[in-house]
Amino acid sequence: MRIAVLALQGDFAEHEAIFHRLHIETLQLRQKQDLALKFDALVLPGGESTVQGKLLRELDMFDEIRSRIRNGLPVMATCAGTILLAQQLLDNPTVHLGTLGISVRRNAYGRQLSSFYTVGKFAGIKDVPMSFIRAPQIEFCTPGVEVLSEHNGRITAVRQGKQLAMTFHPELGTDCRIAEYFLSEMF
Ligand code: GLN
Repeated sequence: MRIAVLALQGDFAEHEAIFHRLHIETLQLRQKQDLALKFDALVLPGGESTVQGKLLRELDMFDEIRSRIRNGLPVMATCAGTILLAQQLLDNPTVHLGTLGISVRRNAYGRQLSSFYTVGKFAGIKDVPMSFIRAPQIEFCTPGVEVLSEHNGRITAVRQGKQLAMTFHPELGTDCRIAEYFLSEMF
């Protein structure tokens, strides 16, 4: 089992550290050639979706990653990664990979509350640490998208087929349970 982490920008190292705690091998996708390496799942980290989307296109990695996700490659996305997957970005004509049936509003928590930490429930798992950092909000889901977590009435994690996406960062810290959930549900 090898997990590829998109390593163009953002907190990919933190995702790798979580999988290493679980003794799972990771590799970094930094350029088109890296897509020829063998891997079983993909992580789209947090960071800046605009930059990540631009680099994916400039480095000519975009089409292949999109078609692999469409063909069922398991993918776990956090924050900016979730924005990359979303079918629609509200207030913004841009769509990146567009493989996940959600409409997302970027930086939806406003300036005051743009970053905060809480613990919450995720797919029946209790007391999961959740860091929200200039987080987007998932405002609509298409049928077939399952809601896995909510905070104050706002959807914070969803799943559709082999795509798992959340608006918070579960990878900041040492709690590995969301990564374990991903592995157990996808394989
Ligand atoms: N606000 C960022 C964006 O629009 C996402 C922030 C994050 O990934 N923590 O891409």
